Amino acid sequence: MDWSKKGQATQAVRAGQRRSAEREHSEALYMTASFLFDSAEHAADCFSGEAEGNVYSRYTNPTVAMFEERLATMEGTEAAVGVASGMAAILSVCMGLLQSGDHIVASRSIFGSTTVLFNKYLAKFGVEITYVSLTNLDDWAKAIRPNTRLFFAETPSNPLNDVADIAALAELAHGHDAWLAVDNCFCSPALQNPAALGADLVVHTTTKYIDGQGRALGGAVCGPRALIDEVVGFLRSAGPSMSPFNAWIFLKGLETLSLRMKAHCESAQQLAEWLDAHPAVERVHYCGLPSHPGHELAKRQQRGFGGVLAFVVKGGDKGKENAWHVINATEFLSITANLGDAKSTITHPATTTHARVSDEEKARAGIVPGLIRVSVGLEDINDIKADLARGLDALI
Ligand SMILES: *Cc1c(COP(=O)(O)O)cnc(C)c1O
Repeated sequence: MDWSKKGQATQAVRAGQRRSAEREHSEALYMTASFLFDSAEHAADCFSGEAEGNVYSRYTNPTVAMFEERLATMEGTEAAVGVASGMAAILSVCMGLLQSGDHIVASRSIFGSTTVLFNKYLAKFGVEITYVSLTNLDDWAKAIRPNTRLFFAETPSNPLNDVADIAALAELAHGHDAWLAVDNCFCSPALQNPAALGADLVVHTTTKYIDGQGRALGGAVCGPRALIDEVVGFLRSAGPSMSPFNAWIFLKGLETLSLRMKAHCESAQQLAEWLDAHPAVERVHYCGLPSHPGHELAKRQQRGFGGVLAFVVKGGDKGKENAWHVINATEFLSITANLGDAKSTITHPATTTHARVSDEEKARAGIVPGLIRVSVGLEDINDIKADLARGLDALI
């Protein structure tokens, strides 16, 4: 069956499933490290690639393969590969496609560990990095060098929801013989398909919305077969493969992804509007608000505005104290840096996710002391508002 022509809701439930001779209805979990051969000849043929067949789960596993095919179908890419975590996805892209002397242009507002991976580890092997403003296309253009091979962007950004024009970035990259990779964590394939806008590679941390219930670490890279083969080549030798058990969780996670994302978006929109009107709130960063600078672009290239928002509590130099007060006054919101979970989470970026960033960089990136990030979960929106109102009302 060609699932690529079906609606995404159908793909999410049906694409990629392979049934065994047992005729199981739901996707089977193949918890096995290795696979058997019929004979010495068959083993030799499987190892040489002459016969198709599973050899070892670091290379291929049927549950992981079902997940990969379903995700690729939902992203609209030729292929996908599952890996051990979101960070393993980014590492595998770089190790598979880059070499010493190559140059990456990346947006400044990428995930903290991605910055450490680029600055500390890729740099060690002679890969150069330049950071630019996510939303300023001139900045990207000026950073290009003859050895630029990769553009790396995360849109919408964490935590301010800045939105990059993916089609424009892809055009710029392709004009200079570089690939564009987009970290699609905030939107998931339910809300945005970067490949359809021209991105060459889409990286995912499946730990976030694709699981959606905070149970397992995983990641994936989606793209054309030829590029994914390079990534797979690295993975098979280096080993950050996706566990079959985790793949099974993500496979089932994809089935409810679009329904969950719809609920996350609806609640985040309501919460953003409510915060925007609250007298103790100075500013709300959510691309679903018409006042957000990325609103029109997000409306064009996304199917929803996402479930993560940030807001600044009033207070000037008492910003941090006030933000901590609001966080500490909550009763059930989870104080944790994770996001994309059924449980709402609340965090103070300046002293957690962005604590390693210098004060100057923080100021430039808008990570002010009064900033709070909320990943809006699936609880009743009125309860979420009430949990935040407790601390906010006391600041009026
Ligand atoms: C969490 C996260 C990652 C890393 O994913 P892990 O699965 O934790 O390795 C990468 N990018 C973004 C945007 C993230 O939020």
